[in-house]
Amino acid sequence: MLTSYDARTGATLGTLPPTSPVDVDATCTAAAQAFAPWRASSGAQRAALLRGLADSLEADREALVALADQETALGPVRLNGELDRTAFQLRRFADIAERGEPFAVVDDPAVAGAPPAGHPAMQRWWQPLGPVAMFSASNFPFAFSVLGGDTASALAAGCPVVVKAHSGHLLLSNRVMDGVRRVLAAQQLPAGLISMVQGGGRDIGVQLVRHPAIAAGAFTGSTAGGAALAAEAAARPRPIPFFGELGSVNPVVALPAELAAQGSTLATTLAGSIALGCGQFCTNPGVIVLIDHLQPGLDARAVNDAFVAQLEEALRAQQPHAMLTRGMRDAFDTGVAHWAQAGADMRLHETAAAGAPPRPVLAQVSALDFIAKAALREEVFGPSSLVVRAASLSQALQVLAAVGGSLTVTLWGAQQDSEETRALVAGAMAIAGRVLFAGVPTGVAVTAAQQHGGPWPSSTRPESTSVGDAALMRFLRPVCLQDAPAWLLQRQGQPV
Ligand code: NAP
Repeated sequence: MLTSYDARTGATLGTLPPTSPVDVDATCTAAAQAFAPWRASSGAQRAALLRGLADSLEADREALVALADQETALGPVRLNGELDRTAFQLRRFADIAERGEPFAVVDDPAVAGAPPAGHPAMQRWWQPLGPVAMFSASNFPFAFSVLGGDTASALAAGCPVVVKAHSGHLLLSNRVMDGVRRVLAAQQLPAGLISMVQGGGRDIGVQLVRHPAIAAGAFTGSTAGGAALAAEAAARPRPIPFFGELGSVNPVVALPAELAAQGSTLATTLAGSIALGCGQFCTNPGVIVLIDHLQPGLDARAVNDAFVAQLEEALRAQQPHAMLTRGMRDAFDTGVAHWAQAGADMRLHETAAAGAPPRPVLAQVSALDFIAKAALREEVFGPSSLVVRAASLSQALQVLAAVGGSLTVTLWGAQQDSEETRALVAGAMAIAGRVLFAGVPTGVAVTAAQQHGGPWPSSTRPESTSVGDAALMRFLRPVCLQDAPAWLLQRQGQPV
């Protein structure tokens, strides 16, 4: 049996049977059968389903948030906000489907004459990929789970979804699925259109990704888990695309003049971001890059020292809540220990009382150490951050290059055009999906311009995003129709 635990006390909340291999097979087969009608559905039908799912979440809000709070300890304020965002996201993809974006056509009328200028009539349409295996993340029990962005965008694209429930919020996932089943039944849609499997260990996820009916993977979680499943997707006899959104260290590069002007305010803001949700955000600012020699006339080292002291104090005042699971807490303690073993100066490293939530951690290393030691560049998932002291701008750029790939890079103090700020912007854009020039990276708006992804190790597919309108495009592939008959063209991009 699978067990659901209270994240604060460790007490058992309930047990549930795992999905058997036979049932995983049946679930994938049912998803394949649901694909044909859903692929050919109209934008209005897709919108009706997505809006019905948003309504179902809101109708059961009180019970869902209470359950999520027990299983994750994320607190009702955060969880209500996350449920709002999840419903918003479903309705946004409903609008996108209704506007016809999955059916966009590039029309290339015939041109008389010999090639290469002359050509037949051609239209470029979008075809949904097929059933998507969707892996939920533990730290967003609504927004990156059963009815999260991957499910919303896959359904809007015309793809059925098989959810792999996260073992960290099993009861919640099942209650959300109860609502999904009611919506599917009320709209007379097949149960295989949105289904769920659950299981301990790795076998069930591997079976899902290997199943011949599955046409794509969508994953939000750890780099190790995403890498393992991406390898499975690539090793299939018929490989499939695997969109893995993974861990990230999200460097914040703060220029000394900016810190001299408003270091105290920025330290408070940054400490809040580091400890938010007990640091369990993929966009948690895990690396703070400070440059000790940059501008003549400014004692950058003294400014940076003062900022680190302010950050340390602001972090000391934070009171993180319990972590999502016991395993995550152990991984956090181990990650912090790796920093200490790698020779980091542990600026703030208090021992939490037995059974109490973790205390925030702040450590400091030189840029040379950070570049030389891989252990210092790994994501430590929890309320912690590593200050990296660079001796020069070029060393700061080497630090970014050593990170290699990140969901975000934040640049504080790049408001003026100069050789230095151009170099920093280029360095940031080379490794990040989103570059911020103000504020902190936690908080990912669902918009048309959003980009949530980045080069490895932050995702397996740097050309795609898992948040925002463009998330839809992951689950579509282009097909060119040449000299197509009139009856087909009349469908205006709606697949048959
Ligand atoms: P996780 O442990 O990788 O789990 C994610 C899902 O994958 C779970 O369903 C898990 O199954 C399954 N899984 C993991 N490894 C597997 C393997 N080798 N084979 C088959 N299935 C496997 O991640 P998490 O703990 O939920 O999330 C925390 C991590 O996610 C952090 O690193 C965080 O930065 C990252 N994250 C990234 C984003 C983003 O958008 N980039 C967003 C949120 C979180 P079980 O449930 O059975 O463990």
